[in-house]
Amino acid sequence: MAKYIFVTGGVVSSLGKGLTSAAIGCLLEARGLKVGIQKLDPYINVDPGTMSPFEHGEVYVTDDGAETDLDLGHYERFTHTPLNRLSNFTTGRIYDTVIRRERAGGFLGKTVQVVPHITNEIKTCILEMAKQDLDVVITEIGGTVGDIESLPFLEAIRQFALEQGRDRVMFVHLTLLPFLRASGEVKTKPTQHSVGKLREIGIQADVLIYRTEIEVDESVRRKMSLFCNIPLDSVFEEKDVDHSIYELPLVLAEQGVDDMILKRLQLSPKQERDLSEWERLVDVIRHQRQGEVKIAIVGKYIELHDAYKSIYEALDHAAIAARTRVRLHKVEAEDIERDGAEAHLKDVDAILVPGGFGERGIEGMILGARYARENGIPYFGICLGLQIAVIEFARNVCRMKDASSTEFAPDCGVPVIDLMAEQQSVTDKGGTMRLGAYPCRLKKDTLAYSLYEKDEISERHRHRWELNNRYLEVLEANGLEPSGINPDKGLVEIVEIPSHPWFIGVQFHPEFKSKPIRPHPIFRGFVQAALDRQRGQLKPRAARKQASRGSGE
Ligand code: GLN
Repeated sequence: MAKYIFVTGGVVSSLGKGLTSAAIGCLLEARGLKVGIQKLDPYINVDPGTMSPFEHGEVYVTDDGAETDLDLGHYERFTHTPLNRLSNFTTGRIYDTVIRRERAGGFLGKTVQVVPHITNEIKTCILEMAKQDLDVVITEIGGTVGDIESLPFLEAIRQFALEQGRDRVMFVHLTLLPFLRASGEVKTKPTQHSVGKLREIGIQADVLIYRTEIEVDESVRRKMSLFCNIPLDSVFEEKDVDHSIYELPLVLAEQGVDDMILKRLQLSPKQERDLSEWERLVDVIRHQRQGEVKIAIVGKYIELHDAYKSIYEALDHAAIAARTRVRLHKVEAEDIERDGAEAHLKDVDAILVPGGFGERGIEGMILGARYARENGIPYFGICLGLQIAVIEFARNVCRMKDASSTEFAPDCGVPVIDLMAEQQSVTDKGGTMRLGAYPCRLKKDTLAYSLYEKDEISERHRHRWELNNRYLEVLEANGLEPSGINPDKGLVEIVEIPSHPWFIGVQFHPEFKSKPIRPHPIFRGFVQAALDRQRGQLKPRAARKQASRGSGE
């Protein structure tokens, strides 16, 4: 039977609860345990799918097509946990389920209330998660303790601990120790209040983890232990990491967070702690990286780092593997429309156009793709980035000047990107996209095949529009190669330009499957191409093929 860890946060938001939950998951997996992680979000949207990236950052997609909070990306990057629809619930989704049941007469005429009906539904979501044959379920409660919105979740987990037994459930609370520069000291009062607030609701934190800019001394830890009613050996420090978030599991392991959790939950580890892969990774991050490549991201949600979170992480994973760093050059697509591509892209080593929705910035992205194509600069288009590359190619190589997507130009003469018939009539904005994992068959002797080294791959999608196969023949005749095809629907999933040194567009989101210890092959190839270009070693693909053939014979 599974044991349960609830992670709450206090004092301020954006403390890194997601990262901490993920790092705890990583540590427990390093002991051979099967871990599941989920997040309960207090907002009313049924899922984050309809929210603007400016509101919420990126929408993370799971294999089974759930549109979820970006913290799930951390879970997947740090652990091997199965992520799916059970990994993220919002207040909206919980109420939606309860209200539908009420309408169907499921409550037999009773008054439906927050307690017990909403709290019961929340507990069901946690128990459902545990059914997946797990040793430990980690549940992160979104929001900050003290918010009105998260109260039903806190009430539900209080009840949950009572019902399951305190020995099978533990509460981890993450807070911030603000550092007052003027007096040169950290302050524990907000933490005391936040732990007290939890206690008011009936939850006594078992473990306290405090975020801090500076290392604090023993007396501060003793004070927190005493006032928060938490034993000293359960008070842990999460000092800001020096180099990378991927140091976090090691930081927590050093202090024995995992030992404490195993002891508290009476869990028997299946093995000695094995963090060797993470130690090697952190060693590379800290000591073995040289130089940097400058990669332009030409997008429309550029101001907000979280909007392209997984892409930035995946680039970092690839850079770590190549023993270098990526310098992100974030370019607002509309700035290119105003100033031209040259002004923003002339000294970059590679160009990436990420996913996006709507019309704003499209022409700037098209100029960016053109600049990459004409100047032999490595190009990587993701989802919208593929569509942009196809439109650019159709307009400027195939000379179809009216080429566009019906997303931004519903009546355009040459809809090279269009809705599939089954999408045409859909008006509901939630969950009507091609979502989740789809297979893709790769053509031999292509860039895609050389990266994946496989005949068939599976990647995650989140889009409505597709390459319009009516134009495939003319695109191919002019030198755009469809190198990955969905075997069931015949849809083009990958395009490339064989006459260009490194140019690829993918209809899916490979960034969701990249992990620091297993960087994604396309991101690896892309960063390597950027490095090669910087060193003057990026060769046209045809020449490269001949060279490798020559050396093999
Ligand atoms: N807006 C495009 C579509 O819906 C691309 C979506 C994306 O980039 N995720 O097809």
